[in-house]
Amino acid sequence: MLYQRSSQLFAEAEKVIPGGVNSPVRAFKSVGGTPIFVKEAKGAYLYDEDGNRLIDYINSWGPMILGHAYEPVVNAVIEKAKKGTSFGMPTQLETEIAALAVSMVPNIDKIRFVNSGTEACMSAIRLARGYTGRDKIIKFAGCYHGHSDSFLIQAGSGAVTFGSPNSPGVTQGTAKDTLLATYNDLQNVKDLFEANKDQIAAIIIEPVAGNMGCIPPAEGFLQGLREVCDANGSLLIFDEVMTGFRLAKGGAQELFDIKADIVAFGKVIGGGLPVGAFAARNEIMNYLAPVGPVYQAGTLSGNPLAMAAGLEMLKALNDDTDVFKRLEEKTAYLEKGIREKLTEAGLDYTINRRGSMISVHFDANPVTDFKTASNGDNDTFKKFFHGLLKEGIYIAPSAYETWFITDALSYEDLDFTINSIGKVAKDL
Ligand code: PLP
Repeated sequence: MLYQRSSQLFAEAEKVIPGGVNSPVRAFKSVGGTPIFVKEAKGAYLYDEDGNRLIDYINSWGPMILGHAYEPVVNAVIEKAKKGTSFGMPTQLETEIAALAVSMVPNIDKIRFVNSGTEACMSAIRLARGYTGRDKIIKFAGCYHGHSDSFLIQAGSGAVTFGSPNSPGVTQGTAKDTLLATYNDLQNVKDLFEANKDQIAAIIIEPVAGNMGCIPPAEGFLQGLREVCDANGSLLIFDEVMTGFRLAKGGAQELFDIKADIVAFGKVIGGGLPVGAFAARNEIMNYLAPVGPVYQAGTLSGNPLAMAAGLEMLKALNDDTDVFKRLEEKTAYLEKGIREKLTEAGLDYTINRRGSMISVHFDANPVTDFKTASNGDNDTFKKFFHGLLKEGIYIAPSAYETWFITDALSYEDLDFTINSIGKVAKDL
């Protein structure tokens, strides 16, 4: 495949955009080469500026769960746009999507819409701090909750790809209120509570981690966090930006039957438009302005185009009773195929998966936390990535990312992918 035009476009972009990209991991720094410039996308496929077709396993990092240019979403956005693109005033549409989201997700009474997953998580911890009157939060190494200051402490995703887990610009004052724990290590969390008695407002966690590859919670871990929070008067925040409306209609809370106190959403909830949201039961949500004292706002929050896209996406996921089952089956099929090919090639590997989130790690040992995720062989990953790209398959340009499976993928696409992995694996 040729990437001449993409390379030219990247060179032009670099002159006017830092690193040529508007979000760091897009720059291909950890795998080398230059990023691919997309021209358009439909269903399971991306079409780039050089005329190549790529099978997409990233899907805008999660949102396009039903495929690109999903018609009900596209049509809703077009129709809405004709009637005005932003008002900064309430619309009925906002209530409609809020009511649907609240009906789909367990244990939430009210939801507030924002413009990104970052905003959702940032607002969730402010609310938790305001509600509990405490300052500290616990986050887990390798979990990514967006780029707001409190979270850039051993964050996953692009932050780890670039080897700068603590970004300059995050003050010591902010950093001291973020306590770091090890994913899947309940004792570690208990020790932090012991050492910081009555100071911890909340634990924030990706209930299935997706920013250090995919790392599912160990049996009993989430339940253990729930109990520790209850015993200490702290809130449990599930960052469901990746898992929400993906792993089940009601997200990880439904899947694991664990009640979180605050839930953050992003990605799927916006159908591909910039949307985030956070939700909780009445008692907590009524702490937010204008009802309560915790301030949070947004000029474009609840934007009509974004709400129209999100509403169509949620309706589709709510109405199609089989969609999560199909996603599970397709991803399980892919996992089985990849396992066969990597085993045939005699490679050391670990595959982690939960529902339609899956990651391939080039290390034979179990990957259960940030440390074990960091043991993967990055050189092998780079070759794997570029080998697949040559075959017309696009996975995330970093070993620390999850693949997001879309329902638009056919079994033919999956077979093609598995066979390509077989070819590529032989040369690793
Ligand atoms: N939380 C999680 C779990 C994420 O994966 C991400 C982004 O990848 C975010 C929060 C931040 O969302 P956004 O990039 O929309 O700000």
